[in-house]
Amino acid sequence: MQKIQMQNPLVEMDGDEMTRILWKMIKDRLLLPYLDLKSEYYDLGLQNRNATRDQVTIDAALAAKKYGVAVKCATITPNRQRMEEFPELTEMWKSPNGTIRAILDGTVFRTPITVDSVKPVVKNWKYPITVARHAYGDVYRAVDFRTDAPGVCTLSFANANGEIQSALVQKVDGPAIWQGMHNTDASIRSFARSCFQYAVDTRQDLWFSAKDTIAKIYDGEFKKIFEEEFEAYQSDFSRLGISYLYTLIDDAVARVIRSEGGFIWACKNYDGDVMSDMISTAFGSLAMMTSVLVAPDGTTEYEAAHGTVTRHYYRYLKGEQTSTNPMATIFAWTGALRRRGELDGLPRLIRFAQTLENSCITVINNGTMTKDLASLTESGFSVSVVNTTDFLQAIADELEQEMFDIKD
Ligand code: NAD
Repeated sequence: MQKIQMQNPLVEMDGDEMTRILWKMIKDRLLLPYLDLKSEYYDLGLQNRNATRDQVTIDAALAAKKYGVAVKCATITPNRQRMEEFPELTEMWKSPNGTIRAILDGTVFRTPITVDSVKPVVKNWKYPITVARHAYGDVYRAVDFRTDAPGVCTLSFANANGEIQSALVQKVDGPAIWQGMHNTDASIRSFARSCFQYAVDTRQDLWFSAKDTIAKIYDGEFKKIFEEEFEAYQSDFSRLGISYLYTLIDDAVARVIRSEGGFIWACKNYDGDVMSDMISTAFGSLAMMTSVLVAPDGTTEYEAAHGTVTRHYYRYLKGEQTSTNPMATIFAWTGALRRRGELDGLPRLIRFAQTLENSCITVINNGTMTKDLASLTESGFSVSVVNTTDFLQAIADELEQEMFDIKD
C-alpha cells in the first residue's frame, strides 16, 4: 500500500523519560509504516532545553503558531529535586507548557478516552465530558498576607491618570488573613472565544459555570463576557443544534453527575483545576486523559494529560518490564493528524487517525490492556495484562488488519 501523504508539516515536540520512549515506539510501530510523516521536530527533552537555554521551547511554540498544529510529548518541569538529579542544569527552567501557553494564549481542553470495557464510576455517564479550564489569574495570580493586629483593609486601584478607586474589604479586631486577586477582560474574552469555537469544532453543547450570586461583580463579569461573545457564535450553534448554558457552579456539579456526558464544561481557573481531576478519576485513569490547547487564532497543540511517568522510566532503565499505558500519547498523535487532515483537506489522513483510534479501543475491549486499566474493568471481564511493548504490538497487529479496508 502506498504510504499516506501529508501536505503541510505538523510540529512535533519530543519530551522526557518514559513518554519519550513511548514516543519513538508509537512513531516506529504505528505511524511510520503507513504515513509519509511530515513533521518539524523540536527536542523539548530537558537536556536540549538546557543546552539551548530553553530557546527550543520558544521556537517550538512559534512553529506551532506558524503551522497551526502541534503534538507534544510530556516533559519534565524541573523543581529542586530535579536540580539535584540533573546537576548539569544551569537553571530551573520554566514549565514548557507554561511557556507554550503564554505564546499561544490558549485554553486547555481535557477529554477522557472512553472504552466499553472500562466503566466510569458514575454509571449514567455514556459519553466523555470535556473540561475547559481558564488558565489565567484568580487565585493563581493572587497576593495574600496575614496580619496580627486589629485594623482595616482596603482594596485600591490607581488608573494610569492617578485616579483612585477603593473599597473597604473588612475591619477586623484580631489576627486575619487577606487575599487580592484579579483577572482581565481580555483573558476572559479569549477563554470564552476558545470555548465557543471548540464547541463548534467538536459539535458539543457548552456549559459555563461560576458563582455570580456571591461574586456579583467578579463572576458577574465572566458571565457577561461569555454572553457577549456568544452572540458571534449563536448562528453556528443553531445550525449545529448545540446549545450554550450558563449555570451556577453548584448547580453544574449536580447536573454533571446526573448527565449522560457528551458536552464541554468551561470552568474558572480554580474550579477547572479541581473538576478536571474529579472527571478524569471518575472516568478511569490519568493515562486515558487527552489534552488539547486551543488558541484564539485556531492553533491547536495536542498532548497526553499525564506526565513523564518517572517511576516506570527508572524501571525501564534497569531493563525491567513496564506496563505504561500509551493511549493518551497515541491519541495526542491522532488528534494532531486528524486536525492536519481537516485543515489540508486530506481524507486519507483523517481516516488513518480514526482507524488507529479504533484499533486501540478494539484491543482494550478484547481484553488486552496495561495494568492501570485492568483494575478498572468490571468483575467477570476476561483480561490479559501486558507490558508496554506487547500492548503496542497488539495495537500494531490490529491496525494492520484494519488498514486493509482503507482505500484511496
Ligand atoms: P505522572 O503523570 O508522570 O505520574 C503520576 C502517576 O500516574 C504515577 O503513579 C504514574 O505511575 C501514573 N501514570 C501516569 N501516566 C501513566 C501511564 N501512561 N501509564 C501508567 N501509569 C501512569 O506525574 P508525576 O509523577 O507527578 O510527574 C512526573 C514528571 O512529569 C514530572 O517531572 C513533571 O514535571 C512532569 N509532568 C509533565 C506534564 C506535561 O508535560 N504535560 C504533566 C504533568 C507532569
